[in-house]
Amino acid sequence: MTQRLVPDLVLTDAGWQSGRVVVVEGGRIAALEHVHRVWPSDVMLTGKALLPGTVNAHCHTFQSLLRGLGDDLDFMSWRDRVLYPFSEKLDRAGIALGAAFAFAELLLHGATTCVDFFYLNDDGNENAEAVIDAARRVGIRLVLARTMYDWECAPRRYCDTVDDAARRTRALVAAHEGDATARVQPAPHSPHGASPAMIRAGWEVAETEQVPFHIHVAEGRYEGQRTLAEHGATPIRYLDALGVLGPRMIGVHGVWLDDDEIARMGARGAALAYCPSSNMFLGDGITRIPELLAAGVRIALGTDGGSANNRLSVFEEMRMASLLQRVRLLDGSALDAERAFAMGTRAGAALLGLDAGVIEPGKLADLVAVNLEDPSLHPRTDLLKSVVYAMSPRAVSDVWVHGRHVVASGRLTTVDERELLARVLELTKGWSISTAAR
Ligand SMILES: [Zn+2]
Repeated sequence: MTQRLVPDLVLTDAGWQSGRVVVVEGGRIAALEHVHRVWPSDVMLTGKALLPGTVNAHCHTFQSLLRGLGDDLDFMSWRDRVLYPFSEKLDRAGIALGAAFAFAELLLHGATTCVDFFYLNDDGNENAEAVIDAARRVGIRLVLARTMYDWECAPRRYCDTVDDAARRTRALVAAHEGDATARVQPAPHSPHGASPAMIRAGWEVAETEQVPFHIHVAEGRYEGQRTLAEHGATPIRYLDALGVLGPRMIGVHGVWLDDDEIARMGARGAALAYCPSSNMFLGDGITRIPELLAAGVRIALGTDGGSANNRLSVFEEMRMASLLQRVRLLDGSALDAERAFAMGTRAGAALLGLDAGVIEPGKLADLVAVNLEDPSLHPRTDLLKSVVYAMSPRAVSDVWVHGRHVVASGRLTTVDERELLARVLELTKGWSISTAAR
């Protein structure tokens, strides 16, 4: 089926263009043409601008169900009183509901791809398949980062043996090889959540399957000392010594890196999934983004889980990424809107290995229309800067993923929002940190 989208403006490599029709076919952008005449079947996006969909490079979808439970706790208390006990409460249906809830909110905020760094594995892949199924139903593009975890102090359901984790992750990657909207990548949890053998196994799966791998690294200040004490090196040096610091690695957070670690990430071609709001929310610190960019590190943006942010919008992360660097460096020009926008779109898609994040023929048809009548996009001085710094989430009106019109006039077309929220309320009824018992 061919669709022709006719917006007032479309953002291309050459900037904003008017009088264009975006032709969508088979999940991809087939052409970007001048409008010569309008056909009755054309999708008229009058008063709207079309942008590439945003890419959420790091999330834990089930955590949306935990939002509000431990919002003003420090990280360790949040982990021990909220994350661990409540993640034990979820059965497969609850996991799928949490995923659907997060995907719905992300789509409504203009995110067309989500990485779900998923670790409620219960010794298998069935829960991960339930998340993949939820993504398909709600209509978002998914990269399921299949976690490989073997730290014995974490809940049992997170953990596999090294052999099981590698075998199950390979099987899940293979099962979704030809999947148009879902793919699987390995994710050894972190230097503290995965043993050296597990981290190596994750890297090996990535190498043989030729995909990236995801790993949390240097999020909290305590991690540097802990990795140093346990493995004799700070996190990035440790990963380098293990032989996994390279172009397949997507490090998540990277808050506490010294100059040498930043230089090593750049020299080895490693990438970063940066979650500025989460880093603020959990009191982690400020990642040195301009220095990482200067070292050649590829950087994408992530929201992190819905109970560690607590918003789910990549547009929001673009704004936060820029503002944080300004306040850190006392410099209003520290990270400009164009750079932040690219991190949340094309850079994110590229480092995940997706052909998306930019509107041009051949790319995946993952698109967002924003309402130019929204007050937050007035006056019309520099529209891209306004999208990053000023735009209200209310302005996101329509979303397409793989050519499927999944949000129309601000409403999901794929699932009943009211019913979804009713199920979330039902599941979480009575939850509070005083009722959590392990
Ligand atoms: Zn995370």
